[in-house]
Amino acid sequence: MSAIVFISSLDSAEQQQWLGMLTKLLPDESILLPEAFSAELAAEVDIAIVANPDPSILSNFPNLLWVQSLWAGVEALVPSIRQHNRQLEQSKQLQLVRLLDPQMAATMAEAVLAWTLYLHRNMPQYAIQQRQQLWQQLPCARAEETRVTVLGAGELGIAAINALLQQNYKVSCWSRSQKNIAGVHNYVSVEQLPEAIAQADILINLLPLTAETKGLLNQQLLSNLPRGAKLINFSRGAVLDHPALLELLDSGQLSHAVLDVFEMEPLPVDNPLWQHSQITVLPHISAPTNMQSAARVVADNINSYRAVDVLPTTVNLAQGY
Ligand code: NAP
Repeated sequence: MSAIVFISSLDSAEQQQWLGMLTKLLPDESILLPEAFSAELAAEVDIAIVANPDPSILSNFPNLLWVQSLWAGVEALVPSIRQHNRQLEQSKQLQLVRLLDPQMAATMAEAVLAWTLYLHRNMPQYAIQQRQQLWQQLPCARAEETRVTVLGAGELGIAAINALLQQNYKVSCWSRSQKNIAGVHNYVSVEQLPEAIAQADILINLLPLTAETKGLLNQQLLSNLPRGAKLINFSRGAVLDHPALLELLDSGQLSHAVLDVFEMEPLPVDNPLWQHSQITVLPHISAPTNMQSAARVVADNINSYRAVDVLPTTVNLAQGY
């Protein structure tokens, strides 16, 4: 029986749920918390499963080969793994595997579609009008005439794009490398980003948080949006410059924003974003990790690694995603 360490800062009930689920799916593995390992046993561990781990614990396991994250976003983990690797020789570099779960992609696609429809069909304005007892029909373009640009065309972005296409939206996307998605104009490179933004009646952010994307959605860039455009941020709060967002809403350049992610979560009660009539605040719910499907993905990754000695797709630590 081989041993895997489970490192997390989850509360103990949730930690036990994960351990129970993973142990059931991986009966040939002994999955234990860090404190259960002697130094001798720790030296035999090659895989860590992690959820918001204290990164210093990784160094207690000198022969770790890869770390499986239970989350899809790994921006907090990447610097720790890079730091950890600085102390290791090239042949012993630790690899990071993030959660790639089709169930999560489907959930994100559903969320993108739901909140795109919310914006496209003027629901925020009708909610305000109801409070004012105002009977007023607002203009609404057809889906075919509504341009939606998705920033990021990765696991979640592609699922979201497909859901939008099924609803007949006019979809564009922006990514680092070229994609070939039928019916979708793909912008690539920083040079093409202003043009991608200029085509967006609704702009959706699904970019990972990296050194390159931090603060990317700033005043200058978002000023390229058509007047009255709408924004959805479902990836990470720090990709968006929030003071710039407030200015753009106040000037009418943007008409509404749906925000699911923030630099500080939970969003502090005194943050002005809560009270803004043109902002919908969501508590990071667009695509939560589903324990059942995620545990199955992790178990499949580990079984396949044990069978053929090949790591699952790893994060590019230099690129940050
Ligand atoms: P992913 O598969 O790594 O895709 C990232 C996409 O962004 C790729 O298309 C990539 O381009 C593009 N990209 C990254 N940096 C770029 C740059 N500098 N210039 C141009 N394009 C760039 O990630 P994912 O699985 O779709 O997840 C995206 C993010 O969603 C996660 O990182 C996480 O922060 C967030 N998330 C949020 C929730 C929630 O509930 N709110 C849940 C899960 C995940 P290439 O394809 O060319 O590499």
